[in-house]
Amino acid sequence: MNLILDLLFPKRCVGCKKLDTYFCKDCITNILQTDLVCPKCEKLAVGGQTHPVCKRKYGLDGLWSLGIYQGSLREAIKQLKYGKVKELAEILVDVTVEYWAKYQPFILDQITKDEGVGWAIIPVPLHWWRENDRGFNQSSLIGQTLSKKLGLAYFDALKRVRYTKPQVKLKGFGRHQNIRNAFSLSPNILISQSPNILLLDDVWTTGSTLRECCYVLKRNGAKKVWAITLAR
Ligand SMILES: [Zn+2]
Ligand SMILES: [Zn+2]
Repeated sequence: MNLILDLLFPKRCVGCKKLDTYFCKDCITNILQTDLVCPKCEKLAVGGQTHPVCKRKYGLDGLWSLGIYQGSLREAIKQLKYGKVKELAEILVDVTVEYWAKYQPFILDQITKDEGVGWAIIPVPLHWWRENDRGFNQSSLIGQTLSKKLGLAYFDALKRVRYTKPQVKLKGFGRHQNIRNAFSLSPNILISQSPNILLLDDVWTTGSTLRECCYVLKRNGAKKVWAITLAR
């Protein structure tokens, strides 16, 4: 069966279309890293930590993104999301953890200092009808893969509680209005057991969705919330 599938849909690199790989080494090396910015003001910030003056009680503590949303990284995210090439989740998570270890030990340091205890990964949920439509949530797949790799807890803790328009069709303030009160915490989740959270999404655009999710988590007892995205 796999052989037939391989013949019909041969593996090709998302960047250069080379055969027999989903993401070749050269194209991975060529992912353009983003400057790390504060999730509140989006200006440069060391390690992506929220500036002390930008700290808010229910706000994000930091933002980390793997690369710029363009080229092969953008293609990889699209193939994962719409093409459901699940192998890409594994590859992108490996690359992320490698980058953390090499260039940004900050996040790993925090997690390993706590030996993973008290840390959990929570994905941004899709709306139920979109999830059914595509069959899976790419952010939860990435989250699960990352949780296994780092040995952290994983919860599908957030639910969409009301309809929101697709964010891409809205601008600035409209996005913020659209997303307000759109999420709630699942009733059986006890944040106090894992108060430090890596909140996962595929792309950071304006950040309004991730900020709103963080608000819900912190209102329910989360201590630290970092936004982690593949691209920005
Ligand atoms: Zn390639
Ligand atoms: Zn700031």
